[in-house]
Amino acid sequence: MRRYREYEQENRGARKRRRKQAMQRKILGFCVFTFLLGVLCGKIVFAKSPKEESEKMTAEYTENTKELSEQNSDSPVSDGIAGNLLAAGEAAGEDRDEAWKLTLVNKWNPMENGYKPAVAEIENNYYFDARAVGYLQEMLADGRRAGLDFWVCSAYRTIEKQTQLFEDKVRRVTAETGLTGKAAEEKAGTEVAYPGTSEHNLGLAVDIVARDYQILDEKQARTEEAQWLKENCWKYGFILRYPTDKTEETGIIFEPWHYRYVGEKAAKEIMEQGICLEEYLNRVQAD
Ligand SMILES: [Zn+2]
Repeated sequence: MRRYREYEQENRGARKRRRKQAMQRKILGFCVFTFLLGVLCGKIVFAKSPKEESEKMTAEYTENTKELSEQNSDSPVSDGIAGNLLAAGEAAGEDRDEAWKLTLVNKWNPMENGYKPAVAEIENNYYFDARAVGYLQEMLADGRRAGLDFWVCSAYRTIEKQTQLFEDKVRRVTAETGLTGKAAEEKAGTEVAYPGTSEHNLGLAVDIVARDYQILDEKQARTEEAQWLKENCWKYGFILRYPTDKTEETGIIFEPWHYRYVGEKAAKEIMEQGICLEEYLNRVQAD
């Protein structure tokens, strides 16, 4: 009897302990849940919407770009004109209005603030400056007739699109390296152009790759497509904009896929002499 009572007491003690532990677990669970809910609500209430943040950054970039372009106010940017006019350059005579074709955009020379070219579709929803799109289409068509399989993978980008690409890159840099602010922007800027400083924002640049090798690296240069373009681009007024040995002048690494329209006269000289646009413009200005 005594033993049974002892057993009963022990048992009751064990039940009590289990109930206490269960209660502690419930309290702990409730605390964790409340804490997480608090964090989540805080995020929702205090975080800016992505759109708002993006607009703010676009405004900041535009402001910075404006400051930079005021320092470089001799940039020969002209307003876009409407129409897809293959013959426009020939009809006007290349010498009469060369300026827009030779607009220099690089990290030291941002685009004129608010510049938006009149664009026309190249193909597959990619757009190009309407005054030059015909030459680009002609180049692609001739290459394709010669058996090449071109793939246009980038062309005109709005400032908003460039801002988004740049922001994404800054976020990735921060995640990978821990850098923030100006340091993160500087690092990001070595791979994605700062909004307003990409030729793609100007509407006169196009990235063309081989359909069966769509990777943007140096091996692209070995494809037949890249070789044909390098050989023939000048006939259509295009140049290989970032050659291997001109990184110091252009600020951009070798990009065998990036072609820039400059008009036939400049393209011929640039490709024949193996110089880059920066060097060509320096010579022209010195003459
Ligand atoms: Zn490009």
